[in-house]
Amino acid sequence: MRKQLGFYIDANRCIGCFTCAMACKNQYHQDIGVIWRQVYDLKTEIYPHRERAFYSLACNHCENPTCSNVCPVKAYYKRETDGVVVHEQEKCIGCGNCIRSCPYGAPRHNPVLRKAEKCSFCWERIDSGLEPACILSCPVDALQLIDLATFEEPNAVQYPPGFPKFTSLNPSVRFRVAQSPTVIRRKRL
Ligand code: SF4
Ligand code: SF4
Ligand code: SF4
Repeated sequence: MRKQLGFYIDANRCIGCFTCAMACKNQYHQDIGVIWRQVYDLKTEIYPHRERAFYSLACNHCENPTCSNVCPVKAYYKRETDGVVVHEQEKCIGCGNCIRSCPYGAPRHNPVLRKAEKCSFCWERIDSGLEPACILSCPVDALQLIDLATFEEPNAVQYPPGFPKFTSLNPSVRFRVAQSPTVIRRKRL
């Protein structure tokens, strides 16, 4: 397998602080209402304590990106070197095809520019030897940069409960699912 960068999301560590989402906004000076990375709390059917389990999600830089396939002006391309899916906003005509086609909701409408945009995997930072802003900002290492060509973590899953399963896209993301907390009860005196 050739190099394919992806996100490792450790739901067992994540504390839902939104620092990653804010770091992304700060890195790209995003307009009001535009969010490329979002932190979702899990439904109680998936995890019993809603305030304690989260998935921090952005674009999954899929192996077969539908956003790229439906774009009429070829504003998307997938990098040969690392599999990052890049959106070239200067080419975008704001037709919304990518926004409608992505089942993960990654491309967002920028109401100021009237164009689509999405997580770039901070490719400029990667090319400079730096980590993506969201990964660097996480205070508990719940987000990590992985290369799926070499990634080996036996407990990692691609489609945990609550994350939509679209095998045709093959999203470049892996999760460690949240474990149920150990409940320690006090003995009655
Ligand atoms: S998650 Fe959506 S926007 Fe990102 S590469 Fe996959 S299809 Fe494209
Ligand atoms: S990799 Fe960069 S662009 Fe993507 S969500 Fe993280 S900070 Fe935002
Ligand atoms: S910064 Fe880390 S702990 Fe905070 S929400 Fe994001 S992934 Fe979770």
